[in-house]
Amino acid sequence: MTRIVLVTGGAGFLGSHLCERLINNGDEVLCVDNFFTGTRENISHLLDDRRFELLRHDVTFPLYVEVDRIYNLACPASPIHYQRDPVQTTKTSVIGAINMLGLAKRLKCPILQASTSEVYGDPEVHPQPESYWGRVNPLGVRACYDEGKRCAETLFFDYRRQHQLQIKVARIFNTYGPRMSMNDGRVVSNFIVQALRGDPITIFGDGAQTRSFCYVADLIDGLVGLMNTPPTFTGPVNLGRPDEFSMLELAKTVIDLTGSRSQVVYQPLPQDDPRVRKPDAGLAKAAIGWEPKTQLREGLKVTIAYFETQLRREKR
Ligand code: NAD
Ligand code: UDP
Ligand code: UDP
Repeated sequence: MTRIVLVTGGAGFLGSHLCERLINNGDEVLCVDNFFTGTRENISHLLDDRRFELLRHDVTFPLYVEVDRIYNLACPASPIHYQRDPVQTTKTSVIGAINMLGLAKRLKCPILQASTSEVYGDPEVHPQPESYWGRVNPLGVRACYDEGKRCAETLFFDYRRQHQLQIKVARIFNTYGPRMSMNDGRVVSNFIVQALRGDPITIFGDGAQTRSFCYVADLIDGLVGLMNTPPTFTGPVNLGRPDEFSMLELAKTVIDLTGSRSQVVYQPLPQDDPRVRKPDAGLAKAAIGWEPKTQLREGLKVTIAYFETQLRREKR
């Protein structure tokens, strides 16, 4: 029987790829989004599919629908967007989680939370295993996102303990690929767009800070794989590539792959910017059999081609 799968934040970067994957797998998809950062364009190719339905809705309000599974992705992910309306960011993470958990409780259906490596904050343990509790500044400008996501994780585990819900928690590390928005503000989209336009490449701080970058198709494999694990497996589980690049290395790679003449410029490091980040990816491999396949250079080539097309469209 065809399953109906709810994807909140389905018109966003990751959500749109997930909707597409689920439809290709034979599911019906109910995509719920308030278009805070997502766009109709991200899902325009799905709108005519009879297995796809779009609902404009804000998850901070109750939602009464009938579905078989829930992926909860609704939440802006880029610092500039989640800091634009920090109160709404916390509401989306916390009240959104309560509403989606309430829905899952009524329907007795599995629910997956898109959590984040940001729950580790600026970590003293490197690489980060799931057992690490993290080091987050609860008062800083990133807290609306980090603490919101941490509280959502708490809610997921309390709904499991109190109401026996089938939960899955993915801690997603920096993911990139086609359909990141051009003005998203995240480092991969910024560097590529700057390189393609010949604008200065903006490195925040000295560029020595590191991140691990996962290509979107791999990440989606991980999310779907996690949802399909036995009910006893809840996570949290890290989903990310266990290798690490400094922002300076990333800038050089993007310049190399685009053949750009852009110069690197240095700008102040934002408050509480984590200095290092790399997943311990052992649990994902053991529990889901998941390992990301795409090397950074390969994923960047596809992403660069996507932004080239977007920029050409913009000029027309
Ligand atoms: P995105 O900003 O492209 O997508 C988020 C989507 O959620 C958008 O379509 C937005 O309109 C929607 N949304 C926001 N608030 C909402 C609300 N109140 N009600 C309904 N919809 C709402 O970001 P993304 O990169 O696709 O991230 C998706 C999820 O994955 C987020 O929960 C994010 O925290 C998580 N995540 C992403 C990354 C990454 O590197 N991309 C890393 C860690 C975690
Ligand atoms: N909720 C929802 N859809 C449902 C069921 C619940 O949006 O199908 C929301 C509802 O607004 C509620 C929240 O989820 O406030 C939490 O639900 P729960 O049953 O845990 O709590 P209660 O209704 O007892 O407050
Ligand atoms: N960054 C940068 N230049 C930019 C955008 C971001 O040097 O134009 C840095 C940022 O300070 C951080 C890293 O790149 O150290 C990753 O930033 P992003 O916003 O993509 O993700 P997050 O900080 O949430 O991991």
